[in-house]
Amino acid sequence: MGEFELIRRYFTRPTPRAVLGVGDDCALLAPRPGMQTAISTDMLVAGRHFFEDTDPARLGHKALAVNLSDLAACGATPVAFTLALALPTVDEAWLDAFARGMLALADAHGCELIGGDTTQGPLNICITVFGEVPAGQALLRSGAQAGDDIYVSGHLGDARLALDVLLGKVSLPAEHLPPAQQRLEQPTPRVALGIALREVATAAADISDGLAGDLGHILERSGLGATLDAPALRGRLACSHALPDDVALRCVLSGGDDYELVFTAPPERRAAVEQASLRSATSVARIGLMERALGLRLRAADGSVAPAHFASFDHFG
Ligand code: ADP
Ligand code: MG
Repeated sequence: MGEFELIRRYFTRPTPRAVLGVGDDCALLAPRPGMQTAISTDMLVAGRHFFEDTDPARLGHKALAVNLSDLAACGATPVAFTLALALPTVDEAWLDAFARGMLALADAHGCELIGGDTTQGPLNICITVFGEVPAGQALLRSGAQAGDDIYVSGHLGDARLALDVLLGKVSLPAEHLPPAQQRLEQPTPRVALGIALREVATAAADISDGLAGDLGHILERSGLGATLDAPALRGRLACSHALPDDVALRCVLSGGDDYELVFTAPPERRAAVEQASLRSATSVARIGLMERALGLRLRAADGSVAPAHFASFDHFG
């Protein structure tokens, strides 16, 4: 099968929202009045971001999910995406499953595949997403205020735990691996929560490189520090009962691949945050407080506070 037949068969779909989809030199989108376009790109490299033999349907899902997660962090509604794909060979069963996993998630979010590029080479998947958000309402990393509560959605650390188990670094009772591995391979982008947090959250980021690092971006961009509640953090790990405290905290704080949201809001908006959580059917937990004193601190169960030393993932670190 040639390049164009491959594109036609697997990646050409009706695009009722876009003005023009796959097939021309450019796709065309018509932004709606009063909306800003949110754009983000994420690349997944075989052997770097995923095991080469990862289930292709899950990989297709994840490649789009990590991009939708960035739109969620900005409170943007997904509109469209492009797919740049390097493939070592044309493996039809692989392509079929990959496209199925990716397009099922795309359909669930009404996000249209409008173009891309296809080339032969080491397996590499690069997606660019386009979303829309009412002008001025995008959630930024820079808006947090001293005194704001800090929240995270869902659970944290399970993806890292699965990775450590698969790499043989941590052992876990066998029945706990499948749900953690699902979190690693099929993350749920928190799009509905991000949209519900427009005009509620003061700042937000998605957690791709670990809570400590991604909250760190909010601290840096907002010029503030924070203290996190260690027992509240430990409670974020879905299978925490099986793990010693230090492993659990390391997974939650420097895990990565969670694709949950971390966000801030003033205490007088606690009811509004609760409403956003209900409206989006996404659990959120309050885990700490934004403070003027720079740096990230942890408050232990006994009330003592100490600096948090947890590195986040850095490809060149
Ligand atoms: P060009 O040579 O102008 O860059 P291509 O020949 O690479 O265009 O692609 C032909 C059409 O197919 C374009 O509309 C492009 O956006 C689309 N396309 C190529 N690869 C993909 C892909 N993996 N997924 C979706 N659309 C694709
Ligand atoms: Mg061209």
